[in-house]
Amino acid sequence: MTVEHFEVLIMGAGLSGIDAAHHLQKLCPHRSYVILEQRERIGGTWDLFRYPGIRSDSDMLTMGYSFRPWTSPKMISPGEDIREYITAAARDEGIDRHIRFRHRIQRAAWSSADALWTVDAVRRLPDGSEKPVTLTCNFLFSCAGYYRYSAGYTPEFPGVARFAGPIVHPQSWPANLDYTGKRVVIVGSGATAVTLMPAIAKTAAHVTMLQRSPTYVVSAPEQDKIANWLRSVLPAAWAYKLGRWKNVAFMMYIYQLAQRRPDFVKAAIIKKVGEQVGPDCDVATHFTPSYKPWQQRLCLVPDGDLFHSIKSGRASVITDRIETFTEHGIRLASGKELEADIVVTATGLVMQAFGGIELSVDGRRVDPGETLAYKGVMMSGVPNMAAVFGYINASWTLKADLICAYVCRLLNFMDRKGVRQVMPQSRNAAAAANFVENFTPGYIERALASWPKQGSEMPWRVYQNYFRDTISLKWRPIADGALEFSRPAKAPIQPAAAELAVTAK
Ligand SMILES: Cc1cc2nc3c(=O)[nH]c(=O)nc-3n(C[C@H](O)[C@H](O)[C@H](O)COP(=O)(O)OP(=O)(O)OC[C@H]3O[C@@H](n4cnc5c(N)ncnc54)[C@H](O)[C@@H]3O)c2cc1C
Repeated sequence: MTVEHFEVLIMGAGLSGIDAAHHLQKLCPHRSYVILEQRERIGGTWDLFRYPGIRSDSDMLTMGYSFRPWTSPKMISPGEDIREYITAAARDEGIDRHIRFRHRIQRAAWSSADALWTVDAVRRLPDGSEKPVTLTCNFLFSCAGYYRYSAGYTPEFPGVARFAGPIVHPQSWPANLDYTGKRVVIVGSGATAVTLMPAIAKTAAHVTMLQRSPTYVVSAPEQDKIANWLRSVLPAAWAYKLGRWKNVAFMMYIYQLAQRRPDFVKAAIIKKVGEQVGPDCDVATHFTPSYKPWQQRLCLVPDGDLFHSIKSGRASVITDRIETFTEHGIRLASGKELEADIVVTATGLVMQAFGGIELSVDGRRVDPGETLAYKGVMMSGVPNMAAVFGYINASWTLKADLICAYVCRLLNFMDRKGVRQVMPQSRNAAAAANFVENFTPGYIERALASWPKQGSEMPWRVYQNYFRDTISLKWRPIADGALEFSRPAKAPIQPAAAELAVTAK
């Protein structure tokens, strides 16, 4: 049986996978590639999450692709529009013809003798049965996101079995859940909770956001007046470019200000909340975190929608701890009883690197937690593999774009030099910090042990800084001493004829 071969295999057809395919088509047009996607549609996160109100919490000028203007006037965008934007990008460039849906990758094994990855996946057939599929590739590009798709994170709450109503996690929102006229309690205080609250409050009897501790919540206009004006006077591509740089510069300024003068930024955020939420809400208790701004991601709310729903009395916030679920709701550590018809556990994600696949190099299993991240893109000791991990303090796409262009530059460099293997070698560099530094949400801390570590200096640092990454990924020479290039003896397998299956739309 012949095994199908592609030069590049992309894992995942989300925002990053389509970005990777665009860059390959543009910068490495002669390379064959395929995208394996476990789900049935394009979009990843923006297809999976279907809870009420789902939207971006960063602006779409930086969350959009560098190569495709975001033309909707909404800068904080509904999830549905983002899904459509990604799908349209794939359709317009013929990327969708390269996607094999319902293919879940399970493992990838690198052979240095052959300079090849052997990738094992399972294909889900229409009757629900599964069929093993094996492919080979020269370069593996993980665009599998950063969390487990099968289920979100739910802590073990005492007494859950006693609660009579539905308990739902936003990652698997039931399409037919009717909350009209119901009392809803949302457990959590992150981006998902603050999105859900005003959306559900429109028709529910009352919504309570129950949080253990407060988060920074910042209101931003849903529409960006400057960007919309630029669009009215300039061609779309120019307006988009200018607007994008404006927002990159603004976000970096705010982030740096928060790092240098955290008390000033904290006071400014809290003052603004007080002005918007009205005098009846206890801002000191519910909206004043104990940590500094940006130690966890700030939650952005469009046009203060969360504050309006609290002010109107349709929603409220309680800062307390769950003692136990009861038949009719939740009893809190303070002794208070919170009655609920529906409980939503907006308690986060389970982080997962590289789509949870098993990796091995020449028969030796790779533990990503023992590797060093090279430029935040590759792993020490792991050849011909890259992965997209976006920013935690800015839009994911800014870094995804840089990584995708860098991988193409690397592949073209290897072509020119006639080498088939590239491997980051950490030599004297040692682990100095987790992949993500100075950022403490629970779900990230829980997972970082099994993620690549970062070193103390270039190229082993993982920056959360678009300018530094632009220099590192776009302008620094590819051959920097840390990348080891080689030319294993065996002849390469010829790419399969471009027989590309479109298994679903
Ligand atoms: C609710 C929510 C809101 C967010 N809002 C923002 C925001 O406003 N701004 C921002 O910058 N970021 C945001 N993020 C981060 C977000 O994940 C990124 O914006 C972006 O969607 C990541 O794209 P991706 O393609 O890298 O990963 P994903 O969107 O996660 O897509 C990964 C794809 O890989 C597939 N896959 C995974 N494992 C395998 C496997 N083993 N085999 C085959 N296929 C596999 C998945 O099915 C999926 O289609 C948000 C995240 C969440 C969960």
